[in-house]
Amino acid sequence: MSVKVDQIVRSERKTIEIQVSIEGHIIVRAPLNETMKEIDQYIESKKFWLLRTQQITKARYLNDLHKKYEDGERFLYLGKERPLKIINNSVNEVPLFYRDGSFCLSSSYLKFANKIFIDWYKDKAKEYVSDVAERYSKLYDIPFDKVSITNAFSQWASCSGNGCLNFSWRVILVPKEVISYLVVHELAHILLRDHSQDYWIKVEQMMPDYLKYENWLKNNDHICSMFKNEIGSYVAKSKGSPNTSSDEKSEQFEFEI
Ligand SMILES: [Zn+2]
Repeated sequence: MSVKVDQIVRSERKTIEIQVSIEGHIIVRAPLNETMKEIDQYIESKKFWLLRTQQITKARYLNDLHKKYEDGERFLYLGKERPLKIINNSVNEVPLFYRDGSFCLSSSYLKFANKIFIDWYKDKAKEYVSDVAERYSKLYDIPFDKVSITNAFSQWASCSGNGCLNFSWRVILVPKEVISYLVVHELAHILLRDHSQDYWIKVEQMMPDYLKYENWLKNNDHICSMFKNEIGSYVAKSKGSPNTSSDEKSEQFEFEI
């Protein structure tokens, strides 16, 4: 089976990078002077990883596209997939609540299920992340301005220059330990605004097993774009190149993860 490349983007970069987009498209980023032969060889060397990743990504994408909001369907919350129960109650009652490991959605609100779910996740993200940030802030004496919950789908979190910690609401989908790591990562950026060796030493002091969570995020970055159904410009990074390239760096936030 051969790899079908959907797009080759050339720029003033030094290395080749292959990305599988959220829809399962393969995008190759290459230096201006790289020959097609060299690019083909590189693709061939990554062939099995690429085909496997493409298959998984497509399946996830289609699954996310077709959220049906029906009984038994599963939704992520704090790292686990929890079943949905559709319940019959009056329109005056709470549209969505979480109880005993299940989501309960009122049948009267089915038409708005997507928005209701996202609003619920945002509320929980604000509450949960704020608590964790307060805890680590006190523990390590690193004051911050506030926690903001964003709609970001291409980065988990960032730290603005004014000490504001920003988190995508989708962080509420990942395990608690991983959320703690994201908080530690951003708090450490208040002290050191780069990814220098000193920065990682600080992170390690605050969370000695942080690499475990860093890897978890790299292997699960599709979660960062869940509930984003329109075809967008987001691209999932290949495992070999976790960091954002300088030519594609987000302009909105300087210190992203
Ligand atoms: Zn960072």
